[in-house]
Amino acid sequence: MEFFGHVIDGEEVTSGSGATFSSADPYTREPWAEIALGDQADADRAVTAARRAFDSGPWPRMGTAERGRILHRLADLIEAHVEDLGMADTRDMGKPITQSRGNDVPRAAANFRFFADHARLSTAELLPMDSGHHTYTRYEPAGVVAAIAPWNFPLMLETWKIAPALAWGNTVVLKPAEDTPASATILARLATEAGMPPGVLNVVHGYGPDSTGQALTEHLGVDRITFTGESGTGRIIAAAAARNLTPVSLELGGKGANLVFADADLDTAVEWSIKAIFTNTGQVCLAGSRLYVQNDVYDEFLRRFAAAADKMVIGDPKQEDTQIGPLASRQHYDKVRSYVETVADEGGTIVTGGLDEGWTVQPTVVTGLGQDAPHSREEIFGPLVVVIPFDTEAEAVSLANDSRYGLNAMLFTENLHRAHRVSAALQAGTVWVNCFFVRDLRAPFGGVGDSGIGREGGNFSREFFTEPKAVVMQIRNEE
Ligand code: NAD
Repeated sequence: MEFFGHVIDGEEVTSGSGATFSSADPYTREPWAEIALGDQADADRAVTAARRAFDSGPWPRMGTAERGRILHRLADLIEAHVEDLGMADTRDMGKPITQSRGNDVPRAAANFRFFADHARLSTAELLPMDSGHHTYTRYEPAGVVAAIAPWNFPLMLETWKIAPALAWGNTVVLKPAEDTPASATILARLATEAGMPPGVLNVVHGYGPDSTGQALTEHLGVDRITFTGESGTGRIIAAAAARNLTPVSLELGGKGANLVFADADLDTAVEWSIKAIFTNTGQVCLAGSRLYVQNDVYDEFLRRFAAAADKMVIGDPKQEDTQIGPLASRQHYDKVRSYVETVADEGGTIVTGGLDEGWTVQPTVVTGLGQDAPHSREEIFGPLVVVIPFDTEAEAVSLANDSRYGLNAMLFTENLHRAHRVSAALQAGTVWVNCFFVRDLRAPFGGVGDSGIGREGGNFSREFFTEPKAVVMQIRNEE
């Protein structure tokens, strides 16, 4: 079995206690890797290393161009290691290999390139003042960043946090999710190879409560906490951060509304609605898991949508043609299974789909459930979509906004006015019109309500990962 250690101060190490845990491949349901299991002492070692690298190491002092060269080298190395990084995520959590290799690993490389260039090319404000002064802004690194990541897009979401933090001169302690530890260790090995100084990017493995996750969020040596995960965990982390007054960015759960209007191009709507719910086997915070379809096209849309869902290839995520793999863990499978098994109890009908072999759930399309069914309200995080008809635009907007979550929404229409009107009315951090998942890394990313606090991306990441400082200069009028 392969071993993946913590990476602390540039060295791959075991836990102080010697403890380990194993990561199971959710398709074979057999352990495939052994991982160092950290505790508070390991988290403390990592924060101490990051603190030292920040307080007296070269990284915060070397400037954006030199840091950028190292981050670009890291991006090149990530691309050169697309096979082992992609396979690590696939074996850890069952993501179809075409998605880890074709989307997640390239996006990880793109995250480093984008934020390296963004930091280097950023401008700052200069405010000429009538009083004979001028004020300018400096964006100074915040310090030690704790990054706590989920398991659904392991490498891609870890680098979405690490890349801007590093580009702006911070040092980082990353805690990957316990279900997906491997790619984080590989990434840290590559960072050393790219020339990143020791202590700049540290990785500690472990769990959340009473483990490395909790230790990092409560640590007084941490200056920023960036967290992606469940809304319930976000509440716990926000409380820990509040006790130390540590700024925190929370990217949390979602229950994306997807509105298909009668004036939509139905081919486009079917194609994207399938991707919106079944990509990554539905384990996507942005998943379009509430599908509202205008009555005039409801039957036709449902027929085509269910037929497309039915055609998806289920199987071993390591195979090239697999589109739907197993769910990430036994525990997660049990959660999704309970939703599939209670559809009928709630008065709903499974049009297509249901349980499959092992920890696999087929693409499942459900009708007949109302807005208040748990399936329509709660984040299932699996390949199950609830389809609900509507009559008017106002009704569609009201149904979409009737959720505690507000991460994203999608709408399909060929009517320009409706597209703008509805986009403005939807309470969500991102609205996609006639598409899904397309991202410009300069754009704000985050959610409203239970979907989180704050935004990351472009200048929004700069705001979070730096301490902006105002410098006020007096200019004398005479020599
Ligand atoms: P999770 O909240 O269970 O765990 C996320 C991370 O937090 C893990 O590393 C875990 O070990 C750690 N953790 C758990 N409890 C902790 C605690 N008390 N203190 C510190 N750390 C703790 O989430 P998950 O199941 O890994 O991920 C799925 C969730 O993430 C879904 O709700 C999904 O919507 C959300 N998500 C959101 C986004 C977004 O950008 N908004 C992106 C991806 C996933």
